Amino acid sequence: MSTPELATWRTEVRRWLAATVAAPAATGGPRDLAVFRNLSDADERTLLDNVRAYRRARYDAGYGALTLPVEQGGAGLPALFAAAFADEERAFAVPPSTELISVTTGLVGPALAMFGTPALRERFVGPLLRTDLLACQLFSEPGAGSDLAALSCRAVRDTGDTGDGWVADGQKVWSSGARFADYGLLLARTDPDVPKHAGITAFLVPMGAAGIEIRPIRQMSGGTSFNEVFLTGVRIPDSLRVGAVGNGWRVANATLSFERTASGSVTRRKGGTFDDVLELARSLGRAGDPVVRQQLADLHIRTVLRAATAGRVARAAAAGMPPGPAASVGKLVASDVLTRTGELAVDLLGGRAAADTGEGFAWTEHLLGAPGYRLAGGTDQIQRNIIGERVLGLPAEPRADKDVPWSGLSRS
Ligand SMILES: Cc1cc2nc3c(=O)[nH]c(=O)nc-3n(C[C@H](O)[C@H](O)[C@H](O)COP(=O)(O)OP(=O)(O)OC[C@H]3O[C@@H](n4cnc5c(N)ncnc54)[C@H](O)[C@@H]3O)c2cc1C
Repeated sequence: MSTPELATWRTEVRRWLAATVAAPAATGGPRDLAVFRNLSDADERTLLDNVRAYRRARYDAGYGALTLPVEQGGAGLPALFAAAFADEERAFAVPPSTELISVTTGLVGPALAMFGTPALRERFVGPLLRTDLLACQLFSEPGAGSDLAALSCRAVRDTGDTGDGWVADGQKVWSSGARFADYGLLLARTDPDVPKHAGITAFLVPMGAAGIEIRPIRQMSGGTSFNEVFLTGVRIPDSLRVGAVGNGWRVANATLSFERTASGSVTRRKGGTFDDVLELARSLGRAGDPVVRQQLADLHIRTVLRAATAGRVARAAAAGMPPGPAASVGKLVASDVLTRTGELAVDLLGGRAAADTGEGFAWTEHLLGAPGYRLAGGTDQIQRNIIGERVLGLPAEPRADKDVPWSGLSRS
């Protein structure tokens, strides 16, 4: 399939959006500045239903997974098309997305498309990209976050009746959206006697399987999008293994690079923006204050640099280059802008940021979510390590555990 001309394609997208999403984006009125949403389970379900209806229509119209290769269920378009689509979407009242939708369509669907057997791909990729099925990410554990390869959730060969599966035991944590997910992309240790990166295998585990218990975690923002997931004797058929036995680290790495690229991109609105702060300064009559003007100019420059960085990552992807360390730069810059945006809003609001039910409260939702964004998908410090080692060529961190079998490592 040849790549369509961008301007013509955009016109078609605009026409499709106008026909599908009746309302244009609202202007004025209270703004949604939340980085992560704080909803009751019932509201979360309604939100998911709305966004799924839209995502299904989008998938059926050929706009589902724009950058994924055609043979993997996508539209096979360069990343610039995804940015253009997001730009067009902003003019319409498209239902707001959630982490679970992004994890399903942006991480688990593409990971399965890349590593799944033909049977797995046939069964799951379309339904995941269309959001008929929702999937969460079961990677982090209490003892394995930044050092994800140290994970201890175990999967052993099932020697029961059929003997063609696995039995998983362990605990996952910070699993966004797990309560609403049909499946989870699970990383489990299948060989403890080889170095930590080599003994991991990925599985697609049904979240309704016997032995899975999901407990919500209350966040400081009030919401409970996170969960702890406990696995006790969970049976997983071998047909749900993703990639070869012991190849889970490759699956994890690919999934994390999708996550960093998505985090750094400008395709989905996350929290307040420079324009929102500018409007706030104007509404408070502070936009003429020389100090505020300087702060606004600083934030504007950083916002423009953020977009330029995201554009560079998108162009590299369009040229067929893997996201690599550039995605880390993009994610770091995006987290920094998000944090600074909130800080300037608080400077302007003063005490109203803490005790207010109107504009001040909207900004509180931004403030309470922004720190989470600096952790999710790899912390700021980890992005800096990647940049230091792979962009600046600085000496690598000492890795005393490099050739040591996982079972021989000391664990807290
Ligand atoms: C909003 C949000 C959503 C998330 N969703 C999911 C999800 O759906 N599924 C999932 O599996 N996980 C999820 N996570 C978990 C996330 O991946 C981890 O929080 C993250 O990888 C950090 O791990 P940790 O919290 O265990 O912190 P740690 O790894 O314990 O780090 C603690 C501190 O030490 C620093 N640090 C650690 N190692 C180094 C090092 N080598 N060099 C320098 N500094 C270091 C870190 O930067 C951090 O400041 C989510 C997290 C957030 C905040």
